[in-house]
Amino acid sequence: MTKRGMLFVLSGPSGVGKGTVRKALFEQEDINFAYSISMTTRQPRDGEVDGKDYFFVTKDQFKKAIDQGQMLEYAQYVDNFYGTPLKYVNDTLDSGQDVFLEIDVNGATQVREKMPEGILIFLTPPDLLELKSRLINRGTEPIEVIEKRIEQAKQEILMMKHYDYAVVNDKIENAVENIRQIINVEHLQVKQVYSDYEQMLTINEKGEAK
Ligand code: 5GP
Repeated sequence: MTKRGMLFVLSGPSGVGKGTVRKALFEQEDINFAYSISMTTRQPRDGEVDGKDYFFVTKDQFKKAIDQGQMLEYAQYVDNFYGTPLKYVNDTLDSGQDVFLEIDVNGATQVREKMPEGILIFLTPPDLLELKSRLINRGTEPIEVIEKRIEQAKQEILMMKHYDYAVVNDKIENAVENIRQIINVEHLQVKQVYSDYEQMLTINEKGEAK
């Protein structure tokens, strides 16, 4: 029987750099877990590709997917919906591969409820001032939206206590390395490896199951 893969969730306040860290992580060649592409109703930004960065859909399509129970989690964020299609996550986990989500904190709370075995990683900014300057430098939102995002971020940081791990995003390489270590350590847990040994012990010297 194939052992189910593990679910890893990267979340944290808006503007902390979740997307950048996730992209840097998946640029590494020896990654053996799958990224779950989110669905969103927001417009694609320059260079974004449908089916790679997101599945870009209309609000009606998104609402239909919610009504039909197709979403593992979803959240409304600055007037747009973002969510994780459930089927891809389940099928990939069932095939034995790990799945990695990069989602906002509301979504992570829903994953904790629906798939409590998921490992939640909180990406945190070194400080709030830096968070603000990152949002300003990104230059994709007006200042009022940035102020709103900062206030939201303060509330989100309080949610760290519900997570399994906290990773400071001081440098992208450090954050990526720490996330990889977390994934490694989680795989070394006895509860993860024990079933392999159990299976091995039921096979005799001729390679037959006892
Ligand atoms: P952006 O518009 O900058 O791509 O993403 C905005 C926010 O939505 C980010 O915090 C990102 O992590 C979050 N996000 C992206 N995909 C999902 C998703 O599938 N579910 C939830 N809950 N949040 C998401």
